[in-house]
Amino acid sequence: MKRVVIAGGGVAGISCALALQADGHSVTVLEPGPAGEGASWASCGCIAVGEIVPLSQPGLLMKVPGWLLDPEAPLSLRPASVPGLLPWLARFTANARPSRMRAIAADLARLTFAATADVRAQLADAGAPELLVERPVIKLFDGERDKATMGAAFGLARELGCTIDEISGREAQEMEPAIAAGFKYAAVLRDWSFVADPKRLVETLLQVFAQRGGTVLPLACAGFERDGARVTAVRAADGRRLAADEVVIAAGSQSRGLARQLGIRLQLEGLMGYSTGLQDAGVELKHTVFYPAGGFGITPYERELAVAGTVEFAGLAAAPDWRRADVLVNRARRVLPGLQAGTRRRRMGRRPFTPDTRPIIGRTSKLANVSFATGHGQLGLTLAATTGRLVADAIAGRRPDQDIGAFSPDRF
Ligand SMILES: Cc1cc2nc3c(=O)[nH]c(=O)nc-3n(C[C@H](O)[C@H](O)[C@H](O)COP(=O)(O)OP(=O)(O)OC[C@H]3O[C@@H](n4cnc5c(N)ncnc54)[C@H](O)[C@@H]3O)c2cc1C
Repeated sequence: MKRVVIAGGGVAGISCALALQADGHSVTVLEPGPAGEGASWASCGCIAVGEIVPLSQPGLLMKVPGWLLDPEAPLSLRPASVPGLLPWLARFTANARPSRMRAIAADLARLTFAATADVRAQLADAGAPELLVERPVIKLFDGERDKATMGAAFGLARELGCTIDEISGREAQEMEPAIAAGFKYAAVLRDWSFVADPKRLVETLLQVFAQRGGTVLPLACAGFERDGARVTAVRAADGRRLAADEVVIAAGSQSRGLARQLGIRLQLEGLMGYSTGLQDAGVELKHTVFYPAGGFGITPYERELAVAGTVEFAGLAAAPDWRRADVLVNRARRVLPGLQAGTRRRRMGRRPFTPDTRPIIGRTSKLANVSFATGHGQLGLTLAATTGRLVADAIAGRRPDQDIGAFSPDRF
């Protein structure tokens, strides 16, 4: 049995905690915030199996001026943040080549194909199987041009094993009568599913972990004590010293600063996304519906309908621009004309994004006892359970069921 300290109790951290606890370790999670209110609660909630084409795509540089000019665009870049973002953006654009895109997609495919079984097993073990809603997701397209922009991504995803059915807008409306008439095409992503409430998901996992004897301290991780290449203790924000045999960094976009304290350079940004939860939306949906041209998805959570999405490059410390959450609701009426926006709950989340869209999973070779579980970008909910399993394997010295070399923290 080892004493394991995990920095961060978001979906990634708590998934590691449960997997390590199941291996018999004594696990402490440091989490200063309310459960699930990191990136997860602002998410679309999808177990996005086959969402594997990286954000860095060929033709990307041509789009940057547009991102700078329109703060309400689905993808935007705050001008003041550009100098700080330059190193990350340089790596990001270097990945926007067809060969890189293919390699990244293949790595992400391997990981996401394990996700449904891992989430299912995690939730069954936690006694909350109802949190996984196993229903496919629908993507809507205005017309030929709009659909063509997704063509390459769909082709690659299919080649790598994903099931995507192309249907007409009318057929999509038959599946979901609340959808507006006038969409020409749609796609049904058969491998996807969604969670009933991402915040309840994290809360439930934390509760189960605590009931099984795990410790959750409502404190940030402030630093580390070392003896050469070994971290001997984690320092909490109140000065407490937690002796550790193993340390896991799972603090979402804030993992970069913690890694820096350990002398490890991660290329990690927090790409902001927004969500507005609508309690009396006045429309019924059974599936998550994405409108890629608007950069958002609409998910029927158990207690509300949430319109979530867009990507904003603004740096790790930037305050939210709530206009982006409001704009999403207005745009959602294009998809659901009957949508009412009475009681709104606005949320912002920072997706922990690496320049190659690959997560950061497993041990660093630079220290004897430090592992990472972060950098999941737009796939954190999808990949958290799988990541927990892989991190537990690494700490136990078990051979993982797939090669995780591409996700190494040492690659930056
Ligand atoms: C609009 C939007 C839509 C999305 N849609 C999807 C989707 O459909 N499917 C999907 O899979 N993913 C989606 N994502 C991405 C997903 O939400 C994230 O990848 C995921 O939530 C990241 O989880 P995490 O645990 O790594 O980070 P977080 O959820 O950010 O958790 C990190 C935790 O670390 C804590 N922390 C920070 N600093 C410290 C410290 N010093 N010490 C200790 N703790 C610390 C924080 O309080 C926080 O709770 C979406 C994200 C957004 C914003």
